[in-house]
Amino acid sequence: MLPDETFWLRFWGVRGSLACPGPDTIRYGGNTSCLEINCGPHVLVVDCGTGARLLGMELADRKVGAMDILFSHAHIDHLVGLPFFQPAQTAGAALSLWSGRFDGGTSLRAAISAMMQAPLFPLPLDALNAKLHFNEFVAGESFSPQPGIEVETAALNHPNGAAGYRINFDGRSVCYVTDTEHVPGEDDENILRLVREADIMIYDSTFTSAEFKARRGWGHSTWEEGARLADLAGVKVFVAFHHDPGHDDDAMDVIAGQLEKRRVGSIVAREGMVLVP
Ligand SMILES: [Zn+2]
Ligand SMILES: [Zn+2]
Repeated sequence: MLPDETFWLRFWGVRGSLACPGPDTIRYGGNTSCLEINCGPHVLVVDCGTGARLLGMELADRKVGAMDILFSHAHIDHLVGLPFFQPAQTAGAALSLWSGRFDGGTSLRAAISAMMQAPLFPLPLDALNAKLHFNEFVAGESFSPQPGIEVETAALNHPNGAAGYRINFDGRSVCYVTDTEHVPGEDDENILRLVREADIMIYDSTFTSAEFKARRGWGHSTWEEGARLADLAGVKVFVAFHHDPGHDDDAMDVIAGQLEKRRVGSIVAREGMVLVP
């Protein structure tokens, strides 16, 4: 049952890098990054990984034809669901797409066009029937996609660039901080500023700190660093997200147990999970 609340969110994809469906990932889910955030009657979608396909069917059922989609960046695990997102295929739907300016100056539109191009894809961007409106910001800027919804942004530390988001609505806040790599021993001031005293912080927890040592430069962080930042910034609830496809359900259970000991009340994101800030 969905909450009787004005502000709530649901996870449609919690994985990073590559979808990993199968019997060993059934409990946490195998789809890549996609989040639904409901602000009163307005829907924000955050990233369009493979989880966007099922969200699109749900939104079509609910007759939601206008929405904003916030993209953290254009890596394929955050983008590949867009052509399969039913509202994007629907004539009369209006999608407002937001992204930070990518390193090198490529636009979001150009990145999607490059993905939807032979020999990678059978149909071009023009084949999407919805009206698409592209909006670009410089990470660090704020904007208001709809009256009453304020979105703050911050630059993340990721190859080709990425933006973190803070969505403020109805006196509460949800932060989405992925993909990003921390520098051990340093505080990421951009992130600390963004997430200060947030109700929920969803954070790139791809690796464990033991795995991280051999993965420097890959652009990802750890649940241990997420818990540390949450403590420093006075975040209420920390949510570990963007799970490595190599972490099956049993491995995720171990992480969830360790995280609960480290920071009571923290959550490991699962597909289908609903949260109220
Ligand atoms: Zn990713
Ligand atoms: Zn990425």
